[in-house]
Amino acid sequence: MELWKFLEDINKELSYLKEIETEEYESIEKAIENAYLEKPKWNRVNNVVAVFADLANSTNISNRKTKRVYAKFLEAVGYPFVKIFNEFNAEFIDIKGDGGLALFSGNYAEIYAFLAAETFKTFQEEYAKKQLSQYDVNYYFGIGIAKGDLLVKKVGVRGNNNFFVWAGDAVNNAALTSKDIKNISQITSIGITLDIYDKFNQDKFKDYLVYSCGCPKGKKVNLWKEFSIKDEKNFRYKKIESNWCKTHGEEYLNKILEIIGND
Ligand SMILES: [Zn+2]
Repeated sequence: MELWKFLEDINKELSYLKEIETEEYESIEKAIENAYLEKPKWNRVNNVVAVFADLANSTNISNRKTKRVYAKFLEAVGYPFVKIFNEFNAEFIDIKGDGGLALFSGNYAEIYAFLAAETFKTFQEEYAKKQLSQYDVNYYFGIGIAKGDLLVKKVGVRGNNNFFVWAGDAVNNAALTSKDIKNISQITSIGITLDIYDKFNQDKFKDYLVYSCGCPKGKKVNLWKEFSIKDEKNFRYKKIESNWCKTHGEEYLNKILEIIGND
């Protein structure tokens, strides 16, 4: 192999760096449709909501268990993630090993993102965890939701080795929140950035998205607790640990869908 010639060729090809531009699109769908491998253009979408769900202790499971058992855990992440986020109209879904990424845009993107995340969390805690309980693993997820700019482009070479690359504040902050939650929690929890919390705390939503249904003792409490990440300039987020209530969850979910459907 002619190493230096190979590297010089790549460097020459990459001279299009000076032409790189960004172009704004109004939806993720349009940004994907207009993403090209060989154009020096990254597509930008504003106000995108990203959900990042990551399995905790994944390396530990991989090292301690047989590959067959590890494969069961991976399957219990990927299939429910795609199935549930698809049901809640995510515009893009991707599974990377032990984690899932879903993207939403448009009105109420943060509401749909949370309903999907809460449904995924409830499935994991109430169902999948029981199916996998025989393997003696502390099974939980860190789920982060954040809103912001999104950058997307197809990157790679012609043929099979090219793929979408997603970047920007929404994806980065969702991943950051998910990671912090994995560090500080022992059960599946969802973190949302404060701008998203403010939207949930509006009059029309707060009874369903901020306060509990009152089970089991009739007292309605705020379900969200605030955390900050010191290493990240005190990045703040709110975290919830509850699943959909067995008695009121379905009613609450449909009430929220009704409110956003009527608006
Ligand atoms: Zn209840």
